[in-house]
Amino acid sequence: MRISVKELVLAVSISLIRIFSESAIVSGQSPEKLKIKFLDWYFENGSPLCWNLQGDTILKISLLPDYERESLNRQTTHWHFRIDADSGTHIRISIAKIVNEVYNGTPATEWWDKKHPISCYISYDRKNWIPVMTRFSGERELLVDFTMAKKNVWVARLPVYTLSNLEDLKKKYQGNKLFKVINIGTTIEKRPLEIIQLGNPTAKYSVIIRARAHPWEPGGNWVVEGLINKFIGENSKKWNETFCVYIMPMANKDGVVRGMTRFNAAGMDMNRKWDKMSDPALCPEKYALEKFIEDLIKKGIRPSLGIDIHNDDAGGINLATHRKDDSIFVKRMQLFELLMRENTTFSENVQYSWETPGQQESFVLFENGLYRRYGIEAIVYELNANWISSLGRMPTQYDWMDIGSNLNDVFYKFLSSAEK
Ligand SMILES: [Zn+2]
Repeated sequence: MRISVKELVLAVSISLIRIFSESAIVSGQSPEKLKIKFLDWYFENGSPLCWNLQGDTILKISLLPDYERESLNRQTTHWHFRIDADSGTHIRISIAKIVNEVYNGTPATEWWDKKHPISCYISYDRKNWIPVMTRFSGERELLVDFTMAKKNVWVARLPVYTLSNLEDLKKKYQGNKLFKVINIGTTIEKRPLEIIQLGNPTAKYSVIIRARAHPWEPGGNWVVEGLINKFIGENSKKWNETFCVYIMPMANKDGVVRGMTRFNAAGMDMNRKWDKMSDPALCPEKYALEKFIEDLIKKGIRPSLGIDIHNDDAGGINLATHRKDDSIFVKRMQLFELLMRENTTFSENVQYSWETPGQQESFVLFENGLYRRYGIEAIVYELNANWISSLGRMPTQYDWMDIGSNLNDVFYKFLSSAEK
């Protein structure tokens, strides 16, 4: 076979281009010139991922999904890692999922929620989290750009609240007569599960709150922290007499520590299957809460309100399914909505759901479980992970703490109005 000089030059040039472009992707510049030194996720709440440098300042992140047991469901919404790089380096991070998500049995066609711009947070001290908006690149990648102000930066999906933050909170109020920690069991990996009893159990009414059933959603932890700080700091006579709050502050501790997205260490979703008691071997976290509620009711304490706090991309409050002619329920929930709008930055929709005869539900969530099984009026409160429209900005941990702080007034006004 004869090859012309022209063909030979072309073939050699194509090979050289290939070699250079591949080496640029794989190894960037020569090692001593790399501006990004390392990416670390081997710490509490760090998320499992693959990383790859492109050039010396572009970091490509591929996130691992979190899988549900006996189902096709999988979710990949959490990221948390630390970058070590030269201070002053401009960094572009591309965040992608290795596979698409499967939600309620249906594979997602959109790899990210395109309707809502997705927030991201950076921190130089792991205390203050600075919001940075991401932007889309193609169908599958989110881009984040910033300049390193120091040589270590932590990057996370949302302002991080992990087990250590909860331990600090418990230490802060240890011995305070308004703050009692009740042990109610252990997680799959034997981490202790607790209820924080805030206030006086002999108060006229009570509220039960669960936070962090899903590890990627720390908003509930910040709300609970704000609620507790204000309740104890205020030490208000009228609040103390009117309500006591039972709080499960971190339901999915194993998932939080391991930096996962949604399920517990046995692949169970704690906001599903609320029609019945959980198997303590597979979902001890939900089982422990159910037992606690049952024991409370046996002691004559039936909470007047149950709240399960989550994050999602849109925000809103979901109410338990009721009969459409239940006018007392509608009146009470209209008051609750009004109080939320007047006293907090809540600015999304309140979703009612009506009973339809003969209709089977495919899954039962917290609000319907508490209402049907225990006669407790309950809601699922989704904090918008990306935006607070009443403030016109991406949420910070302080905004969520403010919501918690103001919930004290909401509870007081809502519960005391029941007497009128
Ligand atoms: Zn959730």
